[in-house]
Amino acid sequence: MDLIEITGVKSSAEKHMPAIMSIAKCKCPRCRQGNMFVDKNPYHLKHTMQMHETCPVCGQAFNLEVGFYYGSGYSSYAISIAVSVFSFVVYALTVGMSVNDYRFLYWIIINAILLVALQPIIMRVARSMWLALFVSYDSNWRHNKADVPERTNDTQKNNW
Ligand SMILES: [Zn+2]
Repeated sequence: MDLIEITGVKSSAEKHMPAIMSIAKCKCPRCRQGNMFVDKNPYHLKHTMQMHETCPVCGQAFNLEVGFYYGSGYSSYAISIAVSVFSFVVYALTVGMSVNDYRFLYWIIINAILLVALQPIIMRVARSMWLALFVSYDSNWRHNKADVPERTNDTQKNNW
């Protein structure tokens, strides 16, 4: 018996990846299929932040208003804190933590290097997360038209 029979919810929606996977993979939040970024490899630094203007699969606009991605500083901060907490726990459990020697200082240095090394990924996922806060999944994206943003300005595109 599948989920539709159990819940009684009828859906014509095809299988789609969970929101968390869609965000981590930087997929369009509306269809969860199209890529947000032009170059798949975030470490091609010249193209790290180069985005499609609209989703190549469903047409969802990625730049909702002027300076939209300034807000991704918040999600970027949250991700950086999560990475730091994770590295702290791993470090404390493996190396150990003490204020009587340099182990805490070493963790700070290692964590700083880690954050810089992960920066291309963090910046992309932060944008993906930020966009997902404002654009929800549409199970009928093939038939519904994507909203056209009203607060954009062609001369201000990618102007940051
Ligand atoms: Zn899409």
